[in-house]
Amino acid sequence: MHYCQRCDEPIVMMPRGELVVCPDCGHSEPARRLPLFVVTGASGSGKTTVLPHLVQGLPECLVFDGDWLIGPFERACEFGEVDWPALRDAWLSVAHGAAQSGRHTVLLAPFTREQLDELAGRRWVAEVHFAVLDCADDVRRARLEARPRWRERAVERHVAFAAHLRATVETAVRTDDGPPEESARRLVAWVRGITRSAGPPAA
Ligand SMILES: [Zn+2]
Repeated sequence: MHYCQRCDEPIVMMPRGELVVCPDCGHSEPARRLPLFVVTGASGSGKTTVLPHLVQGLPECLVFDGDWLIGPFERACEFGEVDWPALRDAWLSVAHGAAQSGRHTVLLAPFTREQLDELAGRRWVAEVHFAVLDCADDVRRARLEARPRWRERAVERHVAFAAHLRATVETAVRTDDGPPEESARRLVAWVRGITRSAGPPAA
């Protein structure tokens, strides 16, 4: 995303502290990197339900639903198949863009750390913090069965993915029976606990 504007060839610049530096000519420009917050969760975890409450609770951040890029990516990709690594990479670019305005990005999307670590855009965000929205398997099955017919329902695949996230993501917020406002409150406390300990982003 950062190409050197001094070199005659399109050289990709590399992050160094609060700068990007051209490895060829040494030209540098400011480019801030901030932590990214990913609220992950298998389908049926309650991400969509929590979203508006999280938006309301974190006005200082940019809060996105990862699904919002699916439609454009279906149109952009061959045969209408979503290129999922490219979609995840696009969100890293969005987060890097938000960081230039000093804003943290909170992304609700069923992503894993391994998926993000392998992407070219990973270098453009600082630490990635994960929290998982989780619920009991029977609650998840009931939620997925209650969805409109046009939505896919590979129920047992989502249950297995939920088990993987439960085993690998330390910070968990349950959505079994509490209202979504309560789940959002806990996520707000998680985000602010990290951003405040790091100090406010410089203006
Ligand atoms: Zn250069």
